[in-house]
Amino acid sequence: MEIEENNQIPFLNVLVTRDKDQLRHTVCRKKTHSDRYLNAQSHHHPQQKRALMKTLFHRAETICDEDSKQRELKHIKWVLKCNGFSDRDIRFARKVRQHTEQQTYQKFACLPYVQGVTDRIRKILEKRNIGTRFTTEKKISQILPTPKDKLPLFQSEGTYKVECLCGKCYIGQTGRSIQCRLKEHSRAIKQYDKEKSALAEHKFEDGDHTFDLEKTVVLAKTSKYHQRLIREAIEIRKNPNNFNRDQGVELSSTWNSVIRPCTHPPTNFSHRTTPTIPTTGNTPTTNHINSPTRNRPNQFIYKLRRR
Ligand SMILES: [Zn+2]
Repeated sequence: MEIEENNQIPFLNVLVTRDKDQLRHTVCRKKTHSDRYLNAQSHHHPQQKRALMKTLFHRAETICDEDSKQRELKHIKWVLKCNGFSDRDIRFARKVRQHTEQQTYQKFACLPYVQGVTDRIRKILEKRNIGTRFTTEKKISQILPTPKDKLPLFQSEGTYKVECLCGKCYIGQTGRSIQCRLKEHSRAIKQYDKEKSALAEHKFEDGDHTFDLEKTVVLAKTSKYHQRLIREAIEIRKNPNNFNRDQGVELSSTWNSVIRPCTHPPTNFSHRTTPTIPTTGNTPTTNHINSPTRNRPNQFIYKLRRR
């Protein structure tokens, strides 16, 4: 609860001051307020910068009483100049413009704002009755690393690949930890439960089918459901020699142009992480493959074409 100090009490962003039998009001700022706003040089659309200035002036006009208004306006102008805005920018922002009817668009395009480039694209799109909404590039919070420790890959949700000795592979995805899902596969194999696991079903087909679940490859660590489904479908297409029960979600035809077959094995196998699955309780590994030379007949490997 706020308590009156020196005849002043803050209420939301209004500082109310008791002056004899009158109550005066002005903009309230915390003592720690740094007067740091969006810099004039930053890569934001001019409308966003003007909106910032308009907001500050509007706040001063609506909150301050007549005695404090001029002082507040003077302060805002000084702060804006400190943030790189020129007198011309400030005058332009204060100019009251008549409300004009906005054009109605059939569709909207969301583009990152790049000065001098996105403006031209906007004009081209406008001719085709497509409106443009601008987004900003990476924010500081996205650039700075998070203080939390990263979860090990196999304790995260995501998409994974299990390879069989016969040369086929299985692509799976889970919203729980991959480690947990692998344990379920292992249990299903032990219990001959074909319903619960495609691995179990494949295991008992004709031929030599052996998996080393400890060598499962984490293809992507993705917490978002739809991203996982799409990644799974892409990987299934990249690995046609699979024994998945279905082909995953239907992919947009846009992907056709970026997925292409590759006859040589990828060179980036080394960066993939090998999991460590706890061996307590039910051991998830079935018939560990100790042979260093593994035969992968007719295994087509696709990779994304980089453009
Ligand atoms: Zn197999």
